[in-house]
Amino acid sequence: MTELIYYEDQYKKEIEAKILKIEGNRVVLDKTIFIPQTNTEPGDYGKINNMKIAGSKKEAQDIWHIFPKPIPFQEENTVKLDLDWNKRFSAMRLHSALHLLAGPFDKNFAKRAVAGALKANHAYLVFKEEIGDEIIEKALEQANKDIQNNLEIKSYWDENREGFRWTKVGDYAPIPDGGLHVKNTKEIGKISLVCKELEQGKQKITISID
Ligand SMILES: [Zn+2]
Repeated sequence: MTELIYYEDQYKKEIEAKILKIEGNRVVLDKTIFIPQTNTEPGDYGKINNMKIAGSKKEAQDIWHIFPKPIPFQEENTVKLDLDWNKRFSAMRLHSALHLLAGPFDKNFAKRAVAGALKANHAYLVFKEEIGDEIIEKALEQANKDIQNNLEIKSYWDENREGFRWTKVGDYAPIPDGGLHVKNTKEIGKISLVCKELEQGKQKITISID
């Protein structure tokens, strides 16, 4: 079982950990600062004992760290983890931007996002119906205002559902979430619209941050 340090402190850039299991080019550690890849999350990169990882993957309660080549480690070894902080920080900012933007769509226009995903340089929200240009423009404008207003961003575990997390931006409704965020909207920067598309009647809104 891997302790998920990234949920306790999303700003932690390095730690020492112990190797619990090895299988080919991949290892399970007793704790990690690397969030694994999922369909909606690109995952972290960085180094373990100065060797670059190709990514990490969650299987049951373990996080497997994958290397692109054979590894010199043994079980019980203590290793040092160094996070690629630039990548992580921009992923956190983009992720927070996405959650923040969902807020005014929901609160001001009763349009609730039904899906969302974080990619390497952009992120998108999906709504179940088409949304007019004016609403999109106003929601973006409100989100960019909220950035200046220093809203707090909080992630927390659900008290009744084990392993289930929520993220709440300011006074907007909390959204189910497994990702990582900056602590304050000011850290986001500025949200820009990349494109708006209709896919099978569903509105997809793609953003980036500057
Ligand atoms: Zn999220």
